[in-house]
Amino acid sequence: MDDMKRAIEGIAQRAAAANAPKEGDYMGDDGLLYCGVCHTPKQCVLELYSKPRKMPCACKCKAREALEAAKREAAERAERLRRRCGVSPDWTFAAAGRSKALDACKRYADRWDEMREKNAT
Ligand SMILES: [Zn+2]
Repeated sequence: MDDMKRAIEGIAQRAAAANAPKEGDYMGDDGLLYCGVCHTPKQCVLELYSKPRKMPCACKCKAREALEAAKREAAERAERLRRRCGVSPDWTFAAAGRSKALDACKRYADRWDEMREKNAT
């Protein structure tokens, strides 16, 4: 077994352990394991080395949990950075009043996704 196959096996085993079947999960007509809560697949079929193979995947509720955990971590990180910089959570654009420079900053922040994308290249 080459290194790539061994790495994929390791990923598959860790994913299987993280998505272990729970009470209420069931086998669908398609032969895949389904979540007993959200009734979406907990497995998908991937073609690995020219052979189809069942692999664990996140059902809707597991994906939602992961997204919420990521949002929580991002909020906690933002709070840690804010505290480290001595920035009060009360310092908002609304509380800052108005000036030409603040208006420009607010427009920049409001269009953050677009600005980040433009400056990423
Ligand atoms: Zn689910």
